[in-house]
Amino acid sequence: MSRQVQRYLDQIRAEFSGVDAGELADYIPELARVDPDRFGVTLSSSDGYIYESGDSAVEFTIQSISKPFTYALALDRSGPEAVDAKIGVEPSGEAFNEISVDRATKRPKNPMINAGAIAAVSLVPASSPDERFALIQDYYSAFAGRRLDIDADVYASEKATGDRNRAIAYMLASFGVLDDDPDDVLDVYFRQCSLKVTTTDLARMAATLARNGVNPLTGRRVTDAAVVRRTLSVMVTCGMYDAAGDWVSAVGMPAKSGVGGGILAVLPGQLGIGTYSPLLDAKGNSVRSVLLCRRLSEELGLHFLTVARDARATLRAIYQPCDGVRVYEAHGDLLFCGAEQVVRTVDRGCEDFVVGILDVSRADDVDEAAKVLLSGMSTALHDQGKAGFIVDPDRRVIGDGSEFEQVRYRTVEDAVDAATAFIRGQRSGR
Ligand code: GLN
Repeated sequence: MSRQVQRYLDQIRAEFSGVDAGELADYIPELARVDPDRFGVTLSSSDGYIYESGDSAVEFTIQSISKPFTYALALDRSGPEAVDAKIGVEPSGEAFNEISVDRATKRPKNPMINAGAIAAVSLVPASSPDERFALIQDYYSAFAGRRLDIDADVYASEKATGDRNRAIAYMLASFGVLDDDPDDVLDVYFRQCSLKVTTTDLARMAATLARNGVNPLTGRRVTDAAVVRRTLSVMVTCGMYDAAGDWVSAVGMPAKSGVGGGILAVLPGQLGIGTYSPLLDAKGNSVRSVLLCRRLSEELGLHFLTVARDARATLRAIYQPCDGVRVYEAHGDLLFCGAEQVVRTVDRGCEDFVVGILDVSRADDVDEAAKVLLSGMSTALHDQGKAGFIVDPDRRVIGDGSEFEQVRYRTVEDAVDAATAFIRGQRSGR
């Protein structure tokens, strides 16, 4: 039944794959050589389960999506005071490559524009550029749960054409923001932007942020909750550059885009998203990725300012009242993520029963996405030669006039009786 989520993801990806608006980033010549049709998306649940669609295994360069991670590393290694002394946290509303500092403080306005990101690199303590890059590479790799490597051609291309970033770095040096040699700092910055990721890497990195710094795949703590909170905060206010306001109101997830065409988005406590499509809008954000994230947020109820409720539906009890029948009892609020865990648990156990009964009579609030997922369970089980019934006396999941009315029961006893009859019928049918 996790297949329902998979189908849904495939379907919206297919829907937007026809969109061909936007341009390839060409100010880094090597970036203009990628296939503009590539389109992939990966969703990671907070427990590390992965849904992938399209070009989710294709590698592209991380570019500016590196910025929050180097900022987090600088916070980890140098502490917030030292970092705050050099980089602000105010949205700039400016383009990512604006040659600017805050008028009063003479610091970069935030770590998500190039000026702040270059300053963040210099705040990772190291005795040489190679050592600094190695720390950065290891750190990102720990977030992704696998070793990330550099795209040597993109690195060379950006280094050869990076005069604008040179202008920014020398300006920062003149204001005393950079203590190290600007060219050394830039070299590390160009290398970090050239690290290769897939949408699945991005989703895992996002899920690690969603899990407060613990990678759900490896179980390893990569950073602590305070660093994550600070990092997500600047992603909310500055992650999408001058489109940040529009993004927060429409999508409502801390996010970061890169000119390679990727977007990473985080729903704290719940999930991580990675998308890739290289055609960019005028602000440098991937056109299809923005559309996809908007849709996911709208339909799955992922806006982080949706009134906070405990998202975890608790499966309080799972029991077998008689042969071939298993009851799953859900309590509490059921939102998409909780419902997804419920259907996955049922899916995982379905070898062991003929009829699965979901008892939502003690559930509280059930949102739209969860209703669709839970009511669709019976169809998914039916497709596998099984049956799925729902105990839903108060119509929390199955509304009046729903096509799923015939699988709705008022009590567990009624549902178990129907299940036994179903199994008997199946046996005599053979
Ligand atoms: N490496 C790119 C640059 O510094 C990153 C910009 C981006 O992804 N927005 O110009």
